[in-house]
Amino acid sequence: MTRINENFLKLRTGYLFAEIGRRVKEFKAKHPESKVISLGIGDVTEPLPAAVTDALQKAVRGMGTDAGFRGYGPEQGYPFLIDKIIENDFNARGVELQADEIFVSDGAKCDCANIQEIFDLHNTIALADPVYPVYVDTNVMAGRTGDSGEDGRYEKIVYMPCIEKNQFVPDIPAQRADIIYLCFPNNPTGATAGREQLSRWVEYARQNDAVILFDAAYEAFITDPDIPHSIYEIDSAKQVAIEFRSFSKTAGFTGLRCAYTVVPKQLKGRTSGGKEVSFNKLWHRRHGTKFNGASYLSQVAAAATYSVDGKAQYKKIIDTYMSNAKLIHDCVTELGYRAYGGNNAPYIWMKTPNGTDSWEFFEHLLRSIQVIGTPGSGFGAAGEGYLRFSAFAKPKDVSEAMERFRKIK
Ligand SMILES: *Cc1c(COP(=O)(O)O)cnc(C)c1O
Repeated sequence: MTRINENFLKLRTGYLFAEIGRRVKEFKAKHPESKVISLGIGDVTEPLPAAVTDALQKAVRGMGTDAGFRGYGPEQGYPFLIDKIIENDFNARGVELQADEIFVSDGAKCDCANIQEIFDLHNTIALADPVYPVYVDTNVMAGRTGDSGEDGRYEKIVYMPCIEKNQFVPDIPAQRADIIYLCFPNNPTGATAGREQLSRWVEYARQNDAVILFDAAYEAFITDPDIPHSIYEIDSAKQVAIEFRSFSKTAGFTGLRCAYTVVPKQLKGRTSGGKEVSFNKLWHRRHGTKFNGASYLSQVAAAATYSVDGKAQYKKIIDTYMSNAKLIHDCVTELGYRAYGGNNAPYIWMKTPNGTDSWEFFEHLLRSIQVIGTPGSGFGAAGEGYLRFSAFAKPKDVSEAMERFRKIK
C-alpha cells in the first residue's frame, strides 16, 4: 500500500475551534431558548467598504468585455496594486522597497504556512507560546519537529513563553534558532512590540545569521504612533526579515482573499557548501511554480482600499472594532479581571480568575452568561489560565455580552 506522510500523524487532534463549536452546539441543544454571543472567532463581521464593492462591480463588468478581460496576471501581482502597496504601506513610513520584493497572494495564512519550504529541514525554529497554530502545524507537516509531549509541545521546537512578566513579547531564547516567527500586533494576546523590542530581535537575527518571519496581519489596528507597523521600520531589518501582510483583517477581505509577502533581496541564506543565495529568488521560484496569482478581481478590490474613500471607509470599520475592544477591556478590568491587549489589536487576553483553567472558565461563561471566548490553552501551554476575547463582533452584541458579564460578577 502507498505510504502516507507520517508527519501528519504527529499533529495534535481536537482542533480548537471545532471543539468550541462542539461544546456550544451541545449547550444549545439543551437550552434552545438561550442566545449565545460569540466573542470567540477571529473573523471580521462588518461588510466590505463601498469603495471596494464599487471597484469590484466595475471590474466584474469589465471582465465581460474585450477591453476589460484579464487572464493570468503578472506572477508577483499587478503593478497597479504593488505600486500602491509600496507607496502607502512602506514609503509613507520611510521604508523603500522594490516592486519585485512584493509577492501578492490570496492569503497571509498560506504564505506563512508555505514559506518554510524555502528553508532547510534542519533549521531550528523558534515560536512564541501562545501562538497562531499555523506556524507550528506547517513545520510539523514538513517534518521539522519530533513528536509532541503531554503539554502539546513538539520536540526540536524552541518555545518562547509570552507571559505577563515579558508583557507577552518573547525574550531572546537561550538556545540558538535559525528561524524566528514573530507576530505583532499579536494574535492571540493582543500585545504589540515597540521599536526597541523589535530592534533587539533584528540585532539578534543579524548576530546569529537567523531569519525573522514577521506576521503583521493586524498592523492596521495600531493606534499608538510610536509602534512600528512594519519590521522594516527598524534599521537593517531588510537583511534579516520576511514580512506578511493581509487585507483580511484590515479591510474585511477574509472572504474575498488578498494578501502579500515581502521578501527583500538583501535577505540571504547559505547552501551546505557555504554559497550565499537570496531568499527572494527561492520564493519567486516557489510562487511561480505552485501559484497562479491572486484573482484579478481581488487585486482590484485591494487596490481600492488605498483610494481616499477606501482608506476612510476601512479606518471607520477598524474604529468600530477598536471601540468594541475598548468596551471589553474596560468592562473586564472594571470587574477586577486582569486583561491585556485591546488597544492596538482586536484581541483581549484575559487572565482567568483564581487560577481557573482555560476550558473550565470557558464552560463557566457559556453556562452562566452564554458568552463565548477562546480558551488560551488552545494556543499553547503558556496560554493556560487565559481566555481570548475577539473584538470582531457587532457592537450591540458586545454591549449585551458585557452587560451580562456585569450581572454575574
Ligand atoms: C487572520 C490572520 C492572518 C490572515 O490570514 P489570511 O489568510 O490573509 O486571511 C494571518 N496571520 C494571523 C496571525 C491571523 O490571525
